Amino acid sequence: MRNQLNEAKRIVIKIGTSSLIYPNGNINLAGIDELAFTLTDLKNQGKEVILVSSGAIGIGMNKLNFTQRPSSIPEQQAVAAVGQAELMSIYGQRFMVYGQQTAQVLLTRDVIEFPESRQNVVNTLEQLLRMGIIPIINENDTVAVDELDHTTKFGDNDQLSAIVLQLTQANLLIMLSDINGFYSDNPSTNKEATLYSHITELTPDLFNRAGGKGSQFGTGGMHSKLKAAQRVLDQQSAMVLANGKQPKVIFDILAGEDIGTLFKEDKK
Ligand code: ADP
Repeated sequence: MRNQLNEAKRIVIKIGTSSLIYPNGNINLAGIDELAFTLTDLKNQGKEVILVSSGAIGIGMNKLNFTQRPSSIPEQQAVAAVGQAELMSIYGQRFMVYGQQTAQVLLTRDVIEFPESRQNVVNTLEQLLRMGIIPIINENDTVAVDELDHTTKFGDNDQLSAIVLQLTQANLLIMLSDINGFYSDNPSTNKEATLYSHITELTPDLFNRAGGKGSQFGTGGMHSKLKAAQRVLDQQSAMVLANGKQPKVIFDILAGEDIGTLFKEDKK
């Protein structure tokens, strides 16, 4: 089952803020550089790579010397607007070291419900991939909470990354978090929790085992990752949830090593 992962031609990688920012609030340059190296190498191998990156608020807080995440949504939007530009600047620099062009794409999750917008997004992403450019996608935090009848929720790139997989018919979503995978219980509160290596179906019992976010920079927590996995399985695609501490782990995942949690139907 795992040895088929290397056949994935089009891969979406989602990285959480906790992999981009150290717990003390400073930017994890080594991690970002390793991510740029790894994704560029995958592209050089002939794969099509799309990055969904969180981090705008964390990087914005760093830039504005905030030690606490602001509580009001408009303050968070403002910090995200500052941080998004900085985030892209850092990515642009690191990817350029390896000769790789990147592009910023800001989306809202409800784009999938509007046929014309949806087609525009697909056209842009397909064209970027044809041009050998790695799209770096984030939720458009300025728009996402403005439109009250929309279903968007602030800061949830887990769902967005699964939607991007759906829109681009990608073969694999690699979700990099601050935890080794999905456990039988939240490992930060239960030391006995055990890691699932392979999940073929998302049952209500599994959802009950998923808790909230792990750090002040965390986003949706495990529940949101399982919801994303459900969408991926609905597309007959696969998802691996793994630790993003060392993004080179992506090479090992694609090589079929038993790393993180694989969500994939068991085709007999
Ligand atoms: P990210 O920044 O990568 O989006 P989150 O903080 O949103 O990360 O989610 C990861 C966190 O979810 C973990 O650090 C862990 O504390 C928490 N968590 C809750 N339940 C589980 C579980 N069953 N298995 C693994 N992690 C869990």
